[in-house]
Amino acid sequence: MDFKVLFSPIRIGNMEVPNRFVVPPMGTNLGNPDGTISQEMIDYWEARAKGGWGLIIVEVTAVDPLGKAIPFQPCLFDDSFIPSFKKLADTVHRYGTKIAVQLHHAGRQTSSQIMGEQPVAPSPVPCLVSKEMPRELSTGEVYEMIEKFGDAALRARKAGLDAIEVHGAHGYLIGQFMSPHSNKRVDEFGGSFHNRMRFPVEVVRNIRRKVGGAFPVIFRISGDERVTGGINIEESRAAARVLEDAGVDALHVSVGVYGSMQYIIPPADIPPGFLLPYSEEIKKAVSVPVIGVGRINHPALAKDAILSGKADLLSWGRQSLADPETPNKVAAGLIEDISPCIACNQGCVGYIFDPDKMKATCLVNPFCGREGKMKIEPAVKKKKLVIIGGGPGGLEAAWVAAARGHSVLLFEKESVPGGQFRVGAIAPAKQEITKSISFYTHMGRKYGVDFRFGVEAKAEQIIAEKPDVVIIATGAEASIPDIPGIDNPKVVTSTEILLGLKDPGTRVLVIGGGMVGSETADLLGEHGHEVTIAEMSPEIGRDVQESVRYFLFRRLKKYKTTIYTNTTVKEITNDSVRAEKDGEEIELRGFDTIVIAVGATSVNTLQRELDGKVPELYVIGDASETRKAIDAIEEGASIAIRL
Ligand code: SF4
Repeated sequence: MDFKVLFSPIRIGNMEVPNRFVVPPMGTNLGNPDGTISQEMIDYWEARAKGGWGLIIVEVTAVDPLGKAIPFQPCLFDDSFIPSFKKLADTVHRYGTKIAVQLHHAGRQTSSQIMGEQPVAPSPVPCLVSKEMPRELSTGEVYEMIEKFGDAALRARKAGLDAIEVHGAHGYLIGQFMSPHSNKRVDEFGGSFHNRMRFPVEVVRNIRRKVGGAFPVIFRISGDERVTGGINIEESRAAARVLEDAGVDALHVSVGVYGSMQYIIPPADIPPGFLLPYSEEIKKAVSVPVIGVGRINHPALAKDAILSGKADLLSWGRQSLADPETPNKVAAGLIEDISPCIACNQGCVGYIFDPDKMKATCLVNPFCGREGKMKIEPAVKKKKLVIIGGGPGGLEAAWVAAARGHSVLLFEKESVPGGQFRVGAIAPAKQEITKSISFYTHMGRKYGVDFRFGVEAKAEQIIAEKPDVVIIATGAEASIPDIPGIDNPKVVTSTEILLGLKDPGTRVLVIGGGMVGSETADLLGEHGHEVTIAEMSPEIGRDVQESVRYFLFRRLKKYKTTIYTNTTVKEITNDSVRAEKDGEEIELRGFDTIVIAVGATSVNTLQRELDGKVPELYVIGDASETRKAIDAIEEGASIAIRL
């Protein structure tokens, strides 16, 4: 397929962007605690500049100390921040990529925990997620805030950046002023559309006055806030026209506020390109370039969006995390070499909001956010590796080691690759996972991995290969609880259901409401079975990422799934179970099938047999300790780059 249209330059104000590939501003938390740009962040952006992106927009950058949304957010609220931004801009410019910075104030969408003070907002209306009551900005403070945006823009220009983006989307301070959902003011900044638009318009005019007429100003807008009383596309179109008149050079069209986060960072339940109708509508209203966004993850979609007039440039958000080399690979026609974002939200947004992790990475690309430390470089001494297990950890270790020049032989007992990752791809909306399995096997073949599928390797066979290194990546299998009646013929595992190995009949009980049990119930519900879930803890789906859970729960409700929480199954008796719920004994009756989904147990019989018999032996992923695919992939890559 010809993707020439994606590589045609385009002007935004006085800036010529070399192609249509944009990395949108996404919080990574990779900055220094003092708000300067860290070396880690420079490494992260350098990888994307090197990867061929035409325009990168540095993530949410605070114009005011009271406007931070995440702890390690870059800042531009005084001149001391300019040198580190300059270093970043100089690095990115070496690759011909244009760089902008997104000027941001969180308003009410933050917390005193992050900032040490009460958040501020147009009105004392709490964010639907943080739920903290903000302090209303006085009219005088609003005018001061306008100056702060202009001052920060000037600093960006002094640092040598090519453009700035004003963050007027996603329900942050500017969006809060624009939206009747959050703006209840009665001064000149509230009430009518005209008054609600006064803050963004004055921000744009102030920036324009300070940076001069030619410096490009992009404005990010939510085409629809998707909350009650929020802005819809009709008002966004009107706002876009007002902003164009105020002097913006491009519009970047997203949707949502924190209260509708599932649409800002959509999981795989939402189809790629789902926001393009919004950029298309905005494009009809303005004559400046429009940047489209929303799970853009393959070049055919991007090409169609441009050719059908839905957008002029495309933001490939999470795809730029999954593969920073995406544009270069498209240009070279190496489409299969592109590591696909599977919209799991685990390594990116999931890690940022995980207090134990805090920094963004990517499930399918463990090098993301660690570019300075983790590199695929030619091995000093070429070794012979035997990997046992073709799940995500084994596959990642195999292709990375092979790419470094090692000789790799991989045994997988199933006839196809993927292990539990493949089983996990079967539930509704999980098919994206298959793309990464295909990517790993393609990359393995490209670098010469000898895949032996359908072979359950024994210790003697492995030793006979005379390997320098053995990596055990044999994964895990379903845990079977030790309860009376477990050998009942109606009992099956979730894996057997997901793989279509058992006919579930009409009424099905799923024991265990974690991710696997909930997703198995989802599949069964979709296929018309009557499903009941019995879960020990107070809620189901606790290990499911939040936005994924939103859509999963919506479907379980639609299928009228019966859910028993705080319920421990004590005994299985023919078509029933005896259980304890909230301290009381109950009986659930009349099931055709009872599905066990109570976690997994490591499979690792080889370690003992191989210990001391091969020069180097490693155990990774679930074979070492049952966790998530993201841990297995990270371990696979970490070992492969060390060998
Ligand atoms: Fe995409 Fe998942 Fe990587 Fe986030 S962690 S960028 S959603 S693959």
